[in-house]
Amino acid sequence: MSENCDGALSELYAYLDGELTEDDRVAVEGHLRNCSPCLEAFDFEAEIRKVIANRCQDRCPDELRARIAAAIAECAKPEN
Ligand SMILES: [Zn+2]
Repeated sequence: MSENCDGALSELYAYLDGELTEDDRVAVEGHLRNCSPCLEAFDFEAEIRKVIANRCQDRCPDELRARIAAAIAECAKPEN
């Protein structure tokens, strides 16, 4: 880890949020190309964001909700 790493990592979130200027983005990308620990941290963070974004998009679709409701009704049947 160098001072460059501190800088790159502190800008990671802003990078992923698309809040960096063109110059800063180029600097972060340049650093990631040459520094595998930072690239790994970046990939990890990017992956997490992808999963969260997917989850939020189809958060509990109606079909799933209906299946859960049916399963609950099934469990609540007294004859079991
Ligand atoms: Zn680094």
